[in-house]
Amino acid sequence: MKNLWGLLVLALFLAACGGGGQEPATDDSQAATDSSMTMDADDDFEWQTEQFADLKIIRYQIPGWDKLSLDQKKLVYYLTQAGLSGRDIMYDQNYRHNLEIRKALENIYINYAGDKTSDDWKNFEVYLKRIWFSNGIHHHYANTKHTPEFSQEYFSALVSETNTTLSEEAMTAMFDASVDAKKVEQDPNKGLVESSAVNFYAPDVTTEEAKAYFASITDPDDRAPISIGLNSRLIKNAAGEVVEDVYKVGGLYGPALEKVIYWLGMAESVAENDKQAAALRNLIEYYETGDLRKWDVYNINWVQDTEGDIDYINGFVEVYNDPLGYTGSYETVVQIKDFAASDRMSVLMNNAQYFETNSPIMDEHKKEEVVGITYNVVNVAGEAGDASPSTPIGVNLPNANWIRVKHGSKSVSLGNIVNAYDKASGSGMLDEFAHDAEEIERAKANSELAGKLHTAMHEVIGHASGKLEESVGTPNQTLLEHSSTIEEGRADLVALYYLLDPKMVELGLMESLEVGMAEYDGYIRNGMLTQLRRLELGADIEEAHMRNRAWVSNWVYEKGMADSVIVKVIRDGKHFYDIQDYDKLRVLFGDLLKEVQRIKSKGDYEAAKELVEGYGVKVDQDVHTEVLERTEKLGIAPYGGFINPVLQPVTDAQGNITDIEVVYPDDFVQQMLFYSTEYGHL
Ligand code: ZN
Repeated sequence: MKNLWGLLVLALFLAACGGGGQEPATDDSQAATDSSMTMDADDDFEWQTEQFADLKIIRYQIPGWDKLSLDQKKLVYYLTQAGLSGRDIMYDQNYRHNLEIRKALENIYINYAGDKTSDDWKNFEVYLKRIWFSNGIHHHYANTKHTPEFSQEYFSALVSETNTTLSEEAMTAMFDASVDAKKVEQDPNKGLVESSAVNFYAPDVTTEEAKAYFASITDPDDRAPISIGLNSRLIKNAAGEVVEDVYKVGGLYGPALEKVIYWLGMAESVAENDKQAAALRNLIEYYETGDLRKWDVYNINWVQDTEGDIDYINGFVEVYNDPLGYTGSYETVVQIKDFAASDRMSVLMNNAQYFETNSPIMDEHKKEEVVGITYNVVNVAGEAGDASPSTPIGVNLPNANWIRVKHGSKSVSLGNIVNAYDKASGSGMLDEFAHDAEEIERAKANSELAGKLHTAMHEVIGHASGKLEESVGTPNQTLLEHSSTIEEGRADLVALYYLLDPKMVELGLMESLEVGMAEYDGYIRNGMLTQLRRLELGADIEEAHMRNRAWVSNWVYEKGMADSVIVKVIRDGKHFYDIQDYDKLRVLFGDLLKEVQRIKSKGDYEAAKELVEGYGVKVDQDVHTEVLERTEKLGIAPYGGFINPVLQPVTDAQGNITDIEVVYPDDFVQQMLFYSTEYGHL
């Protein structure tokens, strides 16, 4: 079914305010709750299709598709085909028996003609769905092995009734909890390589041997070092020496990489510009040869390819799955520029000086000439490998430090993914934690836009604003361990202060200040209550953003108490916070911004420490317990993963592609089975 969406979801959200790598998803991006913008044509789009184990399955839309030219659509299509062609690689990288087990289970799933209403069958189905979700038999996040909730006898019966073949070893891997129990072991005392199930090392290679091998090929004097071990599995040769089995054409994963290369070649033929085409050629050469110098050349060209509307990640990228941190997991993400977010960003950039001049901070801390920070939001058109079904929400690449320093890096927020997460979470949290019906209505009508504007202001204006006093060192040197939460809080405060400024309406960024009020509601609700659900009972708040949301909220609550700016209400033993004076709250945000800017500009460590430790670290245990209980009752699965849209070429009588349509499937099982058939190249 093709979903018609007219007024589209503009995505501008949650940024990676940090270094390289990926920003993992949390199910709690700060401002967003659950709204759908009124009158949107996507109101009846089914965001979440199902929930099983600790997982939920979500769909995402591709805003802006119709703005692409035919060649751009083809480019996206070819890049997604390239990505999917390597899907099997991730299964094999995660564990050496994964592909065999997946194929056996899929064969049973398709061919079993017996009772499909029994608990055993349903548990078998959940087990298979969990394998699809995590690209293998280990949990994608916890690294623990999935436990089949059915007996080995039942499974053996399924195997024989469907003429399925499965090795003894694979069967043991499934049912013996002690065998390869953990995907990645991070405790050195247990043997990093020996105790990790990942398939980057043959079973007979030890941690010591692997480390010795990598040391032997490392050149400490190389100032442009290749990413050694990134694209290979360590094995032992006939002489018992450790050698690399390289991922390349004619090598390990060759059959899948040949398909990837084919589609990358098609993509190159419709590249948007020369730099993009050059990068694609480099990537093809790298896959053909396995030569890591070519991977670096590719990355240098890729970083410089910034002019097109289409971009992509494709390669053996993140090394989190390798207990020694060398080998990259196969991953692809295909992205389209978020046109609406870009428009919004340019409005903010063009008015950056207004925001600086009118800021409540002291004049001596204002920049005479402020330039907004470019902040990139993209919409995902397809993902595979390590990025699918579970996906990051932000990516900052490349990982090679010398390339980042010398040639730069790209940092993007995956706007439509963040949006889908928020939509899928439903209104449960909002209904539970909002003080009154008016607040709920305001959130439903405005919180999506409010969240996007908050993030845009935070990134484009907030981080760019203000200046240090002369001869004051950088915040890292002066504010030390509090520097990042102070900086994040400062950027939040700039955003909050201006979200209730009539200038935002004047600039056409929002229709009314209701948007700003919705953001105030959501910010206080999150900072005082809902973000605590991400914390274990008894723990202090540690993470910089969580801390700043707490110290901002607690500070304004306390300072406004005498004037009843924010009122605490306890109803049926539950806490609620009701903002009674939005204008005064805005003044308080301004006061705190002025103080925080002073702290940063002067490098006032003692004041930073007092603010952060006084308002942002400790948690009231009774309130925390209450929040956890209220949240648990809602039954929201902690991890989300995505069904990809299908890009469907439309061809004329000669077989030429005349258009490519987007279809949004809603059946996770069917998509996984289709992928296994269509892209089962290993
Ligand atoms: Zn930030």
